[in-house]
Amino acid sequence: MSELPSRCDVLVVGGGNAGFSSAIAAREAGAQHVVLIDKCPEDWAGGNSFFTAGAMRTVHNGLQDLLPIVNNVDAELAKKIDLDPYTYADFRKDMDRVCLGRSDPELSKILLDGSRDAVQWLADHGVRFQLSLNRQAFLINGRHKFWGGLAIKTEDGGKGLIDDERRAAKKAGVEVYFSTSATKLHRGPKTGAINAVSVDHHSKPATIETKAVILAAGGFEANPRMRAQYLGEGWDLAYVRGTPYNTGDLLDIAMRDCSAKQAGHWSGCHCTCWDANAPTDSGNREVSNEFTKSGYPLGVMINTHGNRFVDEGIDYRNYTYAIFGRAILQQPNGSVFQVWDQKTIPWLRSEEYRDEVVTKIYGSTLEELAAKCMEVGLQNPEKFVQTVKDFNRAAHAFRKENPDKEWNLAVKDGLSTQSSSDSLSLPKTNWALPIDEGPFLAVKVTGGITFTFGGLATNPKSSAVISSTTNQDVPGLFVSGEMLGGLFYGNYPGGSGLTSGTVFGRRAGAAAAKLATGSGGQLQPESGSGSDVQQQGSGSGHGQVSGMKEGMKEGMTEGMARVAKPSKL
Ligand SMILES: Cc1cc2nc3c(=O)[nH]c(=O)nc-3n(C[C@H](O)[C@H](O)[C@H](O)COP(=O)(O)OP(=O)(O)OC[C@H]3O[C@@H](n4cnc5c(N)ncnc54)[C@H](O)[C@@H]3O)c2cc1C
Repeated sequence: MSELPSRCDVLVVGGGNAGFSSAIAAREAGAQHVVLIDKCPEDWAGGNSFFTAGAMRTVHNGLQDLLPIVNNVDAELAKKIDLDPYTYADFRKDMDRVCLGRSDPELSKILLDGSRDAVQWLADHGVRFQLSLNRQAFLINGRHKFWGGLAIKTEDGGKGLIDDERRAAKKAGVEVYFSTSATKLHRGPKTGAINAVSVDHHSKPATIETKAVILAAGGFEANPRMRAQYLGEGWDLAYVRGTPYNTGDLLDIAMRDCSAKQAGHWSGCHCTCWDANAPTDSGNREVSNEFTKSGYPLGVMINTHGNRFVDEGIDYRNYTYAIFGRAILQQPNGSVFQVWDQKTIPWLRSEEYRDEVVTKIYGSTLEELAAKCMEVGLQNPEKFVQTVKDFNRAAHAFRKENPDKEWNLAVKDGLSTQSSSDSLSLPKTNWALPIDEGPFLAVKVTGGITFTFGGLATNPKSSAVISSTTNQDVPGLFVSGEMLGGLFYGNYPGGSGLTSGTVFGRRAGAAAAKLATGSGGQLQPESGSGSDVQQQGSGSGHGQVSGMKEGMKEGMTEGMARVAKPSKL
């Protein structure tokens, strides 16, 4: 185990995408000694970011704009791709539409404005990007047609992203310590500026003096008590899709120690269709995001009482998947069945529906399918069959009235269940093909919580956390990633979480470095002598500098030097 330093210039708490982006940006902006700590053991490195598909939403100017940063498209393939620009106005429209018009306008402007630069910055630091051909495009008449405003992902999803970011952090000279949780934030008595953090390092207490702290420790999605408290009754039973370490402790600590102001949608979260056979309390690092079950636009979803409960085709998956998990948890027993027939089964993505990652239920007739679903929780098979038959009747009626309409997954095709001769009380607005060609397939799904929307208020200009008592910046305290409140309400445009982590992480890193190097920013931090902290636990005062770029060593004073070797990245 490497020795924990007793002081640093910038301390980043949390080692997901937001934390690594913050730490690298802080080094780049001149902070000499940047330390990143994470509560999890190293074999859980990467937080929720590890579990992602690596999808990143960004403003862009179409295919030619993105080609230079992706590694999976050659000239021949490029000729067969249709990828329209996704403009600032498009992103703005999506944010306003899905976030109930409540997203903080200044914060969302920063997110949108900074999105393309953030992606470029990650690419410049060695993060490998690809066009998201498998997730965001359909092959139609020989052409890859992108849909839903989301075009790129990282190679190997979140696993690749975290590998690449850890490599970049090491190159930048960021020190990383696992099994180290922040337990208390300390402020100097004169200025109120952050000057130290108490930590629990491999179960031993220690203190790290610092000039700035960046909070990037995720939300409270893995804390059943906080879920029930803030999201409401029954949420303690939700399945956790990602890391078990995002338990919201740092949100509480920041409010307790710094009167940090709350912001955002505290009863809101991202929750999606998730394999009912997945583990309950955390994701699985092997299967990871493949427990997601997002093939519902191709078919219908039916609850255990035999009823549909959402319009599966109301919008592109990217704009419904974050809310349908909540709808599922509200159904009897918190689980439902996704159902398809032979026409659509081949369109299910193998990533989520191949035999190895999901338990499939087949029936040669709808009655047989219902009987088999009964073995795993369906309570009303007659209603189940009737619901599919009603759906089929309405879908057929629409087709008869609109013979020229074509089923097309790459656009909102308007193929619905609502015609003048027949209609359902709960429509399917797009992609409504009758489910009438057996054998039929059903998959049992539940709601998996991804991340929570409630967080801390930040000053868009300084990137600092705002105090609820003074409504001013808490000097030296910054926030990024899931901990930042005010961006997402009710729903979320898919792929915005990682983009937000990098956009706001870069800003927090730069602001923290500015403060730490004394080159402006907020109040200058108090010297160690004014600290309210008694040194305890591990760490000494001076030592060797390693792992930094040569240029970065220059100008480093003795007092800035760190004391311990970083753990192996
Ligand atoms: C299955 C899944 C798929 C997803 N897919 C996508 C996607 O494709 N695109 C997208 O944009 N978003 C996606 N998301 C959402 C995305 O994961 C988050 O928006 C984003 O990763 C959050 O990054 P973060 O750095 O804020 O938090 P995290 O990556 O969760 O990192 C937080 C870290 O803080 C640590 N920590 C917690 N408390 C403490 C403490 N007290 N002291 C020290 N460390 C602490 C945790 O151990 C954790 O490592 C997905 C999420 C999941 C679960």
